[in-house]
Amino acid sequence: MPDTAIDVRPAVQAPFDLKALRDEFPILAREVHGKPLVYLDNAATSQTPSRVIDVFNHYYTRYNANIHRGLHTLADEATAAFEGTRARVQAFLNAEDSRQVIFTRGTTEAINLVAQSWGRQNLSAGDEVLISMLEHHSNIVPWQLLAAERGFTLKVIPVDERGALDIRAYRALLSERTKLVAVNHVSNALGTINPIKEMARLAHQQGALILVDGAQAAPHQKIDVQDLDADFYAFSGHKVYGPTGAGVLYGKKALLDSMPPWQGGGEMIKTVSFEPSGTTFAETPHKFEAGTPAIAEVIAMGEALGWVESVGIEAIGQWESALLAHATERVSQIDGLNIIGTAPNKAGVLSFVVDGAHSQDIGLLIDQLGVAIRTGHHCAQPLLHHFGVEATCRASFAAYNTLEEVDTFVAALERVIKMVR
Ligand code: PMP
Repeated sequence: MPDTAIDVRPAVQAPFDLKALRDEFPILAREVHGKPLVYLDNAATSQTPSRVIDVFNHYYTRYNANIHRGLHTLADEATAAFEGTRARVQAFLNAEDSRQVIFTRGTTEAINLVAQSWGRQNLSAGDEVLISMLEHHSNIVPWQLLAAERGFTLKVIPVDERGALDIRAYRALLSERTKLVAVNHVSNALGTINPIKEMARLAHQQGALILVDGAQAAPHQKIDVQDLDADFYAFSGHKVYGPTGAGVLYGKKALLDSMPPWQGGGEMIKTVSFEPSGTTFAETPHKFEAGTPAIAEVIAMGEALGWVESVGIEAIGQWESALLAHATERVSQIDGLNIIGTAPNKAGVLSFVVDGAHSQDIGLLIDQLGVAIRTGHHCAQPLLHHFGVEATCRASFAAYNTLEEVDTFVAALERVIKMVR
């Protein structure tokens, strides 16, 4: 056989058994409009493997009970599973202590907790909080609400034309007035990965704290809060193959201990009295967890993190990069398609607009072909306006996606563009 007939390109393969992994996700077998589902909306929410779904069945058939106060067996079992999840999250984040793990409804609630507790206690007129142009609304609006009340100034770190943070501008914005830097680790709208470790070092040099919105990073890369030196780190279970309704706020222990509660109610107290200042509060983390939490969801989130660890987060990240590279190469060949967000360091998010075609029309029509992508402002309106658009189409990848699915998506996109132009 002549040399020219030999294809020497290395086969791109997932670093795990992709077929077996897909089989763990029952939803991937469904059809949409008579076509096999191609689910590329993972940045909004990822799908859930059977072993995570089974947690709900097991919880509600075996040990559904309210936690902490019960003396009966079911309450003990539920408490042990719930509290045991703190240790799972601690390991996932490489936190020093499981008491640094606070359960929330998700990233949004975690950021609001920091704003309302630490922020209200520590921020006032003359102070500055730095956020970035890349932020999701959930890391913008809580600070705007608090700034209106406390009188501090909110400043925005700009991005360059590729959607990478302008680190020089960040350095210039940092000053002794900066009390907090609140930035995402990975942008949900563009996929840009921010240099958090370096940003934390620079913030700390100025005596500022750093809060990291890790909603889009936790599903794709190893998070080591000690190595990053993050003061606060937030993520959502439903983007890490877990259920909706459960998420995490990590914080440095001394900081959490110094912060006041933010919501009052059951679970977060030591004693309650009608005497002035007679009510005393539980220790960290329970002081921040008022009311009955999402018990089954939290336990299921722990199971999802266990699933991620069993596959290997590095392997997942590596595979998503391969999917992104393939998708980027394929869509770049489409006439009139512009990718928004071309930072050198990107996670598995592909945002784009197409000349002469509304993003919404593309989203609706491509759904008819079984392909789920997201269209809109991705809760990052200031960022999209910065790029001069109201909306983009966004395909985002997870461990279970295949190169064939990327090809199906690109073929469907080409068809849809022809229909709408
Ligand atoms: N930050 C980023 C970067 C996100 O992508 C999201 C979800 N799209 C959030 C915060 C909010 O997460 P949740 O809705 O789970 O609270």
